[in-house]
Amino acid sequence: MSESPRPPGDEALRAAVIGACRELARRGLVHGTAGNVAVRRDSEHFFVSPTGMAYDALEPADVPLMDLQARWFGRCRPSSEWRMHRDILRGFADVGAIVHTHSREATALACTGRGIPPFHYMVAVAGGADIRCAPYRTFGTQALSDVAIEALQGRRACLLANHGILALGRDLEAAVALADEVENLAAQYRAACTLGDVRLLDAAEMSRVIEKFRSYGRQDASDPELLFGAERP
Ligand code: 13P
Ligand code: ZN
Repeated sequence: MSESPRPPGDEALRAAVIGACRELARRGLVHGTAGNVAVRRDSEHFFVSPTGMAYDALEPADVPLMDLQARWFGRCRPSSEWRMHRDILRGFADVGAIVHTHSREATALACTGRGIPPFHYMVAVAGGADIRCAPYRTFGTQALSDVAIEALQGRRACLLANHGILALGRDLEAAVALADEVENLAAQYRAACTLGDVRLLDAAEMSRVIEKFRSYGRQDASDPELLFGAERP
């Protein structure tokens, strides 16, 4: 009888939060301590990066545990953005991890108050035809969390005006990858804008792309015109 894999233990999850913070730094997506990361532990609890601590000095015991009632446990206080992390984990059942960064290109775009329109089909990786920009609210407030939740409806990422971005994933790896992709899209969009009028894809095309993404990259993806060669020539 095959056993289902055991969920990662607390030590592994704490280490994964630190690993994700360092991976964001390695990819140039965070600067200093601007940014934070959370991972779901179970239906009531999550681990979140501690507030204001340098990522290379973090130890697993520095990563606090929180519950959805806003209680925290551990030796270091949670990120000042714990409300955003809590509200996303409460409101999006299929999200297992969250990344918040102030990555350069996406934050620059967010400082214009604009999101990323459907200028490239890859915008659909965030789940819809655009990546919205939530209006500015003070960092660490419930007001910021509320506007972020609104901008994330039907999406896996959003920009936060005059602040940064949020990227969600089923796990930390997916959330880091999406934060990286949002940064890449913001850079491409800026570059395209400097060249002149940017052509946007229409809603029907973005719907086709979103549909194709459901099977993209999967070994069992269906393509009736693609034939598998049984014998190598
Ligand atoms: P923390 O260090 O408290 O996580 O805050 C960083 C940040 O990005 C606030 O928006
Ligand atoms: Zn921030």
